Amino acid sequence: MKNTQWDKTYDVVVVGSGAGALTAALTAIHQGLRVVILEKTAYWGGSSAYSGGGLWIPANFLMKKAGALDSPEEALEYMNAVIGEVGPASTEEKRKIFLKFGPEMVDWLTSLGFKWVRAHLYPDYYPNVKGAKTGRVIEGAVFDGKKLGPLAKSLNKAPGMPDIALKSGDAYLLPMVTRSWKGFSTMMRILGQTLQWKLTGKQPLTLGRSLCGQLMYLIQKKQPTEVWLNSPLKEIISDGDSVVGVVVERDGKATKIKAEKAIILAAGGFPHNKEMRKKYHGLDQEWSSATPGNTGDAITAAESIGAATDLMDDAWWGASFILDGKINFSVTERSMPGCILVDQDGFRFANESTSYVDLGHRILEHHRNTGKAIPCWLIMDGLYRKRYLFGMMPPGLTPKKFIRNGEIIKADSLESLARQCNIPYDNLKATLVRFNSFALHGKDEDFGRGQDIYDRYYSDDFIRPNSNLAPITTPPFYAIRFYPGDLGTKGGLLTDEFARVLRKDGTAIKNLYATGNTTASVMGRTYPGPGSTLGPACTFGYIAVKHLTNTL
Ligand SMILES: Cc1cc2nc3c(=O)[nH]c(=O)nc-3n(C[C@H](O)[C@H](O)[C@H](O)COP(=O)(O)OP(=O)(O)OC[C@H]3O[C@@H](n4cnc5c(N)ncnc54)[C@H](O)[C@@H]3O)c2cc1C
Repeated sequence: MKNTQWDKTYDVVVVGSGAGALTAALTAIHQGLRVVILEKTAYWGGSSAYSGGGLWIPANFLMKKAGALDSPEEALEYMNAVIGEVGPASTEEKRKIFLKFGPEMVDWLTSLGFKWVRAHLYPDYYPNVKGAKTGRVIEGAVFDGKKLGPLAKSLNKAPGMPDIALKSGDAYLLPMVTRSWKGFSTMMRILGQTLQWKLTGKQPLTLGRSLCGQLMYLIQKKQPTEVWLNSPLKEIISDGDSVVGVVVERDGKATKIKAEKAIILAAGGFPHNKEMRKKYHGLDQEWSSATPGNTGDAITAAESIGAATDLMDDAWWGASFILDGKINFSVTERSMPGCILVDQDGFRFANESTSYVDLGHRILEHHRNTGKAIPCWLIMDGLYRKRYLFGMMPPGLTPKKFIRNGEIIKADSLESLARQCNIPYDNLKATLVRFNSFALHGKDEDFGRGQDIYDRYYSDDFIRPNSNLAPITTPPFYAIRFYPGDLGTKGGLLTDEFARVLRKDGTAIKNLYATGNTTASVMGRTYPGPGSTLGPACTFGYIAVKHLTNTL
């Protein structure tokens, strides 16, 4: 594009501002490159800032420090067994390079001052598969948002999410706040630490906001770097073989930015793009917990210059419910004892405690086969509701407004519950009789719930013989609709092991890199362990720049 009039020139244009983008930007700045970060919305951080902020990094330094045995070889054996053969999105080369450079990236960030913590009891999601371990997930420690200066105000935040000193390793104890001393003391510690931070004039950022906050802090500390908010990528400019720049909308005007060395696409997936959801997932509606800016723009822009895609029909699925009009991605609620998930005919169809992507797949598959699983129903009894936190509802407290607005169905008898949910009573009764007998002898003969340490991670140790199973017998009974929600999509641009975007013929588009949910995931169709999206997003952001600068 010899005659293009450029408005601005940088070495590297980073599209998006989530954790993958920020890791790439930080790496590029440390290589002496001039970087601009482009963000479509008024907030930076993307879904990464909404998230738990956990990165799945096998053999990370905190595991070593704690004496936990792990190695890239064991992790590869595990990934190969769990992910299997899924084609070019997840080749053995990609898995190997992820496992090699993941720990290196974490060590490098640590050397710059990034502070981490580890959820040491959180197991891989297929704990009985060879090579599985516990505690491979690592996340940012509580970080003072005030250090970000004016950028603190525009850091993305999930609606209704308070800034509290919570670690994801605490999450499994919170449903037990009124059940166990550990649950109670954990809640007290979180509240105490939060108060202490606030009294000393600090802003506690944790989880995904700590991850993004610390990365942005390190970027600005090394080299004040422009972050263009409200500046969506509109087009990638190519000169045939190579990409050379982008068109961005800024202040209502098309602005042309020249990328002298590379463009790195890290703009998330397409959970909020209606047409793409219909085309690739066959869904007229979505129940995504991802940030609104995830509309697939970078994927379509790259496709229009010849990029290939893969795994477009998949997502980081998970069963989700709606409370107070808001979508809640359910991890603990469906796993605690005293509840079951049934379809509209009153039949169970899955292990309620299984990992979220697997449960999402089960709901979709069951709906394809029966047309009766969207929505499905989580049925709970009075004892369950009295014992455990549910979303933001404390144990024992089910606000009347949720019953009045129909989000929660409450009934004194099972028959009345079934009638209100339009479920055939005889079916529901038979399902519960069978399930309650499983609970009494501790074995779910239909779906194996409570069979491994992943299921039991979110359970109640006081319930015996199976901590995920309790009979559902005590009125009042409750029901809430469950949907196949998601944390984002996992299909996107096909990239090689160096994060280069590939064409359909397998050749790389020169100077175009991508990471995160803009790409087809190295995790294939599964979710091997906690942090399976952010671990690769950050690692491939790092790898992209190392490849670009010949420093791999
Ligand atoms: C509640 C919740 C908890 C989660 N917990 C975890 C966890 O602990 N571990 C884990 O691994 N995953 C977790 N996830 C999933 C994880 O957050 C996402 O998979 C991850 O953040 C995706 O990162 P990304 O960099 O691809 O995209 P994002 O972080 O979404 O960043 C993409 C950014 O690009 C911007 N953008 C989009 N289009 C354009 C455009 N045209 N021009 C410029 N910018 C654009 C978007 O607005 C967005 O800000 C969680 C998700 C949620 C919702």
